[in-house]
Amino acid sequence: MTGPAILEIGDVRLTALPDGAADIPTWPAPEPTAGAAPIDWAGYHRAFPEGFHGEAHLWRIHNNCYCLDTGGLRILVDCGVGVGPYPRYGNLRGELPVAMGLAGIDAGSFDIVFLTHAHPDHAGWTFDEELQRPRFGNARYLLHRRDWEHFGGRETVPPYFRRFIQPLQEAGVLELIDGETEFAPGITAMETPGHTPGHMSLLVQSRGQGLVIAGDVLNSPMFVTEPELPFGSDADIARGVATRVALVDRIEAEGWRVAAEHFPAPGWGKVVRVEGRRWFRAL
Ligand SMILES: [Zn+2]
Repeated sequence: MTGPAILEIGDVRLTALPDGAADIPTWPAPEPTAGAAPIDWAGYHRAFPEGFHGEAHLWRIHNNCYCLDTGGLRILVDCGVGVGPYPRYGNLRGELPVAMGLAGIDAGSFDIVFLTHAHPDHAGWTFDEELQRPRFGNARYLLHRRDWEHFGGRETVPPYFRRFIQPLQEAGVLELIDGETEFAPGITAMETPGHTPGHMSLLVQSRGQGLVIAGDVLNSPMFVTEPELPFGSDADIARGVATRVALVDRIEAEGWRVAAEHFPAPGWGKVVRVEGRRWFRAL
């Protein structure tokens, strides 16, 4: 497995905690819109060899969680795929507890768990293996209200939502976010809807430096180069494109760094220009 790694943004220390990676056999890879240039899969394959497998258009999906230590608070960003086996990712079993052990991070030491959205590959470790108690027993869990209503309000509530999210409310540890919120000094939940209605990204700012943990706005580093490509797993594809284009523009304009849960571990880097085009460059 890929082990934990550390990055500092001003006074905030980030530890990447990989939760495993899987070769996706049939992932709905983006297709260019009619009339647009074909996607240079071979180029992306060369630039991000850890992000693909086999044929160039097949993705290797990584699952990074991030521990943030900031101003006396410890924050976990996303909860990975969990104990699994996670069928959509080739029955992957997550490794977050192993990564935490290697990094010397105790589950009880977290104050906040921030969920970018309510999908099961981001909420798999919310509870202990027996699904009895919240795994991060001293933390409050943050989720956008629109995801709570979107998944919980369906006639048939998805099993993963019943299993990993609803019991958080029953345990009294779920806090719903209604809009852009700086919930800790320099740590801001940004609304980035499209992949899900309540999807959020996390902006980390300290001492003039910034980094955005993009969540599933950016599912592959190739989207930094072509944010306008539609992504078939977005609940609202047009909204997803608009959000992605705006977020990549802003990250570049502000000079922020960027990290993403599904990028090759540890998943952080910067946006650079090569012959006029933007590329993700790992740090
Ligand atoms: Zn995801």
